[in-house]
Amino acid sequence: MEAPDTGVDDMTKLSYLHEPAVLHNLATRYGIKEIYTYCGNILIAINPFQAISHLYDTELMDSYKGAQLGDRSPHVFAITDVAYRAMNNEGKSNSILVSGESGAGKTETTKMVMRYLAYLGGHAAAEARTVERKVLESNPVLEAFGNAKTVRNNNSSRFGKFVEIQFDACGQISGAAIRTYLLEKSRVCQISEPERNYHCFYLLCAAPPKSCQEIEKYKLGDPKSFHYLNQSSCYELVGVDDSHDYLATKKAMDIVGISVEEQDAIFRIVAAILHLGNIAFALEGEDSSVLEDDKAKFHLQVTAELLMCDLEALETALCKRNMVTPEEVIKRSLDPLGAAISRDGLAKTIYARLFDWLVKKINVSIGQDPDSKCLIGVLDIYGFESFKTSSFEQFCINFTNEKLQQHFNQKPGGIISLLDETCMFPKSTHETFAQKLYQTFKDHKRFVKPKLARTEFTIVHYAGEVQYQCDQFLDKNKDYIVPEHQELLSTSKCSFIASLFPSLNAETPKSGKFSSIGSRFKLQLQQLMDILNSTEPHYIRCIKPNSDLRPEIFENVSVLQQLRSGGVLEAIRVKCEGYPTNRIFSEFLERFSILVPEVLKENVEENVACKSIMEKVGLSNYQIGKTKIFLRAGQMAELDGRKAKL
Ligand code: ATP
Ligand code: MG
Repeated sequence: MEAPDTGVDDMTKLSYLHEPAVLHNLATRYGIKEIYTYCGNILIAINPFQAISHLYDTELMDSYKGAQLGDRSPHVFAITDVAYRAMNNEGKSNSILVSGESGAGKTETTKMVMRYLAYLGGHAAAEARTVERKVLESNPVLEAFGNAKTVRNNNSSRFGKFVEIQFDACGQISGAAIRTYLLEKSRVCQISEPERNYHCFYLLCAAPPKSCQEIEKYKLGDPKSFHYLNQSSCYELVGVDDSHDYLATKKAMDIVGISVEEQDAIFRIVAAILHLGNIAFALEGEDSSVLEDDKAKFHLQVTAELLMCDLEALETALCKRNMVTPEEVIKRSLDPLGAAISRDGLAKTIYARLFDWLVKKINVSIGQDPDSKCLIGVLDIYGFESFKTSSFEQFCINFTNEKLQQHFNQKPGGIISLLDETCMFPKSTHETFAQKLYQTFKDHKRFVKPKLARTEFTIVHYAGEVQYQCDQFLDKNKDYIVPEHQELLSTSKCSFIASLFPSLNAETPKSGKFSSIGSRFKLQLQQLMDILNSTEPHYIRCIKPNSDLRPEIFENVSVLQQLRSGGVLEAIRVKCEGYPTNRIFSEFLERFSILVPEVLKENVEENVACKSIMEKVGLSNYQIGKTKIFLRAGQMAELDGRKAKL
């Protein structure tokens, strides 16, 4: 009886290194809960969508410590161990780049990498363990404020993250720095079925009865009553207890060094944003707006209390705008739509500043080691995205992926500069932006103007074509704070809130003046590339086996697509161009000596015997190494074919 097919743990060991064989191998392994497979030195991780027992136990960590890659079955610990050892032995920084589409398991994988690094570089003495504890506990804090349920993932990170873990000369963790990228601000005000807003809003609404002074204080309660939450009917997540997570988040905040007073201010802001969203406006006269009803008035009052700012000033900041003329400043009324846009803009700005504060605070609290010579960087960043409507965010994300794949050389550069130029010119529209793009890149081989398109453009990315809609590119690129909002909050009586809106000085860009999100992102990305280029990279490609987020379902077409866009198949192709398959002489002879039985009878060296077999079959271009024979793509298949014909 044949042994059951358990697949191979390294794809380069496959006899036939082509797409169907690769897929079959991954599917077979997934079927027996082997979620990790190597493809040369890339680790492929297929999301199990279920807890696999003992997969991340401490005993398992012990067993990977110091083991050679390949000695033990493929694992995220193994890759991390290689990176850590390389750092210690060669004194060089390493990085682990985790990629994959939404829901593929990047964040979970990243957390395992961090846990294993904390295990390897952790301190024996309890009092010294604070650094690694802070590093690990930064995760739940950032997830509470930066993750949300989306169609693709119940705990989707809505920001990119690069964690730089610093080590001292003894290989112990001595500091860390967290950098985040492009938080999705629009989610604060706008969500669609069946998604949710950021977790923190629901956590706070579910604050357990024990802390009912919180409910009293924040005047929250049922999430269904808030406009920023009730645009979708999803309030609860299967398997998640928001009230438990509220306490867990507060505990994590304690550990990362956020004081009780700061926590109070943070949650006061979270509550204020919910109340702010309920301030609705009605038309007054021709084109002015007033608060819609008593309910709106109530929420205005609560918002002002929570933000500790002046009630009337808040109302004016929402409903009116200053018009500066050479002679005087005139207050112009906004219509209800304009006031709602103003309100949402305020909510997004406050939230974004709060998130940035959290990241900064965590960094200060963990501390940086200025003497650290070596670091291990861990990158958790969204994979390539192509939607029915792909906008500015997808453009930035795909731009990042091109850079990470180092395919960026042939890509039309300068789209962001062109966008900035357009944004600075007051009369621009998305149509004029599109026209400029068409003119500038008309001869670029990776830029396509779709037929009949007026505001769309297509870029031929390495992972496929993506058509972008220009509609919102201008708005989304503008990082703009309304001067009246700035003024209002910088004078808040809550020092925490006021500190999020520091009064302007020469260094900060003038409020009301456009600063480009695209350019800032480009700069951050360049800095990231500079760090990564100074490290030895290791790659983990996460794969989402199905879009139902269910265990044990492996959808071939989608997996293949992900392998392609993640560059795995490309890596395989490169291997194929070289010598993708190799075998130890004895194994090779065992398998193929039957083609030339006399080689075994003659008392020849193993390598000579291998050569005779290849000659007999008429294959050339292979290589003989010290202990192995290296074959070109297809040669193994040819040998098998001959064997089958015997
Ligand atoms: P996004 O880009 O949306 O942030 P992601 O790639 O970070 O997605 P994760 O949040 O890491 O995806 O994973 C999605 C879910 O899949 C997790 O919440 C968890 O339920 C499950 N999952 C991921 N990896 C594992 C694993 N190794 N073991 C068990 N479950 C996992
Ligand atoms: Mg994630």
